[in-house]
Amino acid sequence: MEVRVRYAPSPTGLQHIGGIRTALFNYFFARANGGKFILRVEDTDRERYSDESLEDLYSTLEWLGIKWDEGPVVGGPCGPYIQSERFDLYKKYAEELVEKGKAYYCFCTPERLEEVRKQQVESKSEYQGYDRHCAHLSDSEIKEYLRQGIKPVIRLRVPTEGKTTFHDILMGDITRRNRDVSPDPILLKSDGFPTYHLANVVDDHLMGITHIMRAQEWIPSGPLHVLLYEAFGWEIPQYCHLPMVMGKDGQKLSKRHGSTAVRDFRAKGYLPEAIINYVTLVGWSLDGSTEFFSKEELEKCFTMEGIHKAPAVFDYKKLDWFNGQYIRQADDSRLASLITPYLQEAGYVKNPLSAEDADLISKIVPPVKERMKVLSDVVPLTAFLFEDKPVTDKAVYVAKGSDEEKTGEALQRGSDILLSGLKNGEKEESIEEKLTALSQELGIKVNGVFQPIRVAITNSTVSLPLFDSIRLLGIDETEKRLMRAVKLFEEN
Ligand code: GLU
Ligand code: ZN
Repeated sequence: MEVRVRYAPSPTGLQHIGGIRTALFNYFFARANGGKFILRVEDTDRERYSDESLEDLYSTLEWLGIKWDEGPVVGGPCGPYIQSERFDLYKKYAEELVEKGKAYYCFCTPERLEEVRKQQVESKSEYQGYDRHCAHLSDSEIKEYLRQGIKPVIRLRVPTEGKTTFHDILMGDITRRNRDVSPDPILLKSDGFPTYHLANVVDDHLMGITHIMRAQEWIPSGPLHVLLYEAFGWEIPQYCHLPMVMGKDGQKLSKRHGSTAVRDFRAKGYLPEAIINYVTLVGWSLDGSTEFFSKEELEKCFTMEGIHKAPAVFDYKKLDWFNGQYIRQADDSRLASLITPYLQEAGYVKNPLSAEDADLISKIVPPVKERMKVLSDVVPLTAFLFEDKPVTDKAVYVAKGSDEEKTGEALQRGSDILLSGLKNGEKEESIEEKLTALSQELGIKVNGVFQPIRVAITNSTVSLPLFDSIRLLGIDETEKRLMRAVKLFEEN
């Protein structure tokens, strides 16, 4: 049996971490089993639909390098793969259920349904939901309604007795009393639009889906879907509901924890390989210890057995760490082109790049590569090269354990050591040794000398290594900035 799995998002919002985690698990499971990964767009909710979401879906998967074997754009034997293009089909299947007696027409007006609901609330009735008013209409009653031009919805006839069990690979058997399953849910709306349940089940069947891996929030729909498969007489696919994605505080991951839209991560400068690697580890592991996986490796080694049952934590810091690792592994030339848009956006280099810009960027890459967590870090790290905004608050120069007076002296004597050393072609280690000796003489920590020098040169406390900064800035500009800081401390 060929494995066929699908990612079936609704284009009602941006692709987020939880969504692409589902996509990745399905994709890797298909690849590792020589199966097919299908993309299906579940756009039956026309009110919440947006073009932007659909574009975001395609561009996010493309950016991650997740190619679907069948789906929109590429087509396939079970198309179309966009539900709004399949509406006739759902109608046909809903009517088939009516003919079999498994579903029925309901002509209730919204007013009547509202009245029923109100009464249930008022009488604190144990029974909530549709009262099955139309469950047993006679043929002539139905004809009469239709003659009056009333458009019916089609409802599934949920058994009132018995239980329904659906099996989940991770969670085991989940059993519900049928009377607790939503009473006779709508399958087809009066305008002919299917509801999620109908379209989802019909498509999973017609598309030959063998395994359904989806978010745990769909577990409550499980029994209903099983009842639908049974009503049609179709084979039930295997279910595997994925562990919830939580923030570090144990609450469901949401905007409160930070950005969750993949687009935002991309904009900040996360690399796709870092996202793929880390997100796949949110609720999955191979052996409990291996952390680094390339996409190609995951395409081979992903297993359903490795999926965890317990909720998984999405840790932003851990993702930063992975991203830093991947940045350090990346090719310098690739990094050069990746950081360029950030520098252009900041107005530091031209668009298109001049030859000098390109040359400067290639020199920037090696030192920033060691310091960036995300690509956008390149802007604060290199701002000192493109704009000169001297720090005038003396306190910023003063390192812990030092004071203003010692800082002034460290700046003055340190600048001498540094500049004469550089001009005489002295080795960096030897200059560093002398600066360290100066700190000892002044009775302060090494940083008491280095911090003011760094702040003077880079106008910031977060920056590149000292000698890299000087190399990029040039000796004349370095001297100018050091002298300016010395003067600042000489004043008053
Ligand atoms: N369209 C549903 C969603 O957005 C799909 C759920 C499922 O995979 O069955 O999550
Ligand atoms: Zn009714």
